Amino acid sequence: MHTELSREHAAREAAQRGKAIIGSCVHCGFCLATCPTYQLLGNELDSPRGRIYLIKQLLEGAAVSPVTATHLDRCLTCRACETTCPSGVRYGELVDIGRQLVDERSPRTVRERLRRTLLGAALSRRSVFAAALRVGQLLRPLLPREHAERIPARVRAGRAPLSRHSRRMLILQGCVQPALAPNINAAAARVLARLGISLVNAPSETCCGALSYHLGGTERALAQARRNLVSWTRELDAGAEALLVSASGCGVMVKDYAVLFREDRQWAARAARVSAATRDLCEVLSVADIAAMTGRGARAAGRRVAWQSPCTLQHGQKLNDRVEPLLRAAGYALTYVPDAHLCCGSAGTYSILQRDLSVRLRNVKLATLQSGAPEVIATANIGCLQHLAPAAAVPVRHWIELIDEAST
Ligand code: SF4
Ligand code: SF4
Repeated sequence: MHTELSREHAAREAAQRGKAIIGSCVHCGFCLATCPTYQLLGNELDSPRGRIYLIKQLLEGAAVSPVTATHLDRCLTCRACETTCPSGVRYGELVDIGRQLVDERSPRTVRERLRRTLLGAALSRRSVFAAALRVGQLLRPLLPREHAERIPARVRAGRAPLSRHSRRMLILQGCVQPALAPNINAAAARVLARLGISLVNAPSETCCGALSYHLGGTERALAQARRNLVSWTRELDAGAEALLVSASGCGVMVKDYAVLFREDRQWAARAARVSAATRDLCEVLSVADIAAMTGRGARAAGRRVAWQSPCTLQHGQKLNDRVEPLLRAAGYALTYVPDAHLCCGSAGTYSILQRDLSVRLRNVKLATLQSGAPEVIATANIGCLQHLAPAAAVPVRHWIELIDEAST
């Protein structure tokens, strides 16, 4: 698809990139079949191809209309379309360019802009979020059911491993996960300790920037990323072998730092180094002898697990079919999950900003996950876990917690 950049956009690097990405789209429409919003709404403008066309119009100088903003906002950035696309269209990068254009010339109301700014600021500050969650948990018994179900009960981390190993890896703490599910990184530390690896935190690390970035707060996200680059580079210099990430939504963002800073002379090399050192937990465990660690599955004893592969893992990081063998090796029995490529509707702040669509997608996802009568649903992303858990008939856990529980 050819794009004639408007005079205003012709000199902009992001617009040039957008033009090149749009140029790789051949209109075939294969992506429509796997787009969750097109499947639900049946409107071409809620499909990848329709949104690409809207972004092309913006780059050619069209004004940002509320209609354009609505259809771009409804995109989950799940990137299922990228996995399907035979032409290799980098849709995720393109939609971020489109959203930045919308935000620069935004038809959004002052109230909506304020809401987005506050959301990005509150969710990406670990201490602010932890305090707000604690207040919500205390007030939970007094709230109406539909609000109470969105506030998870307090969870405690299990014991921390005592041993210290010479092999060290950094682990990203995240902004909401420590308060919502502290046992995830604690379980990762216990499992890695069994493999002779100690996990360490970088004290001055902040949010990975994904929340702000996908809310259109590009500058804020880049500032967070720069702070992390300084912090993590220091730890890598001190001997940490890798930066582990237990939330696939954060992992895909950190792996994209290299792309975000590639035109920035001051930060490009550091960003490339950190992105190259970033690993999802499943990448590190895939070389471990899980069967031996778990006593050939004696503890898991064939417990039935439905695996929910987050979009940020399977489409964003292209790490499909990596967790399932680990769970099987630990002795779990995986149930069949139809349409596993479809998004659960969580998608960062989507579950707050697009509540209706998000709940409809969650219902579809839970029906497929629970169709095989599992005893537990396993995931790899805190956002998906918190979105699915209140409506699920069985517990929803991070897969590393299941590996930890199965370990002897
Ligand atoms: S990212 Fe997901 S929701 Fe957005 S256009 Fe692609 S498939 Fe559809
Ligand atoms: S599958 Fe790829 S090339 Fe085909 S319409 Fe979708 S984005 Fe364009």
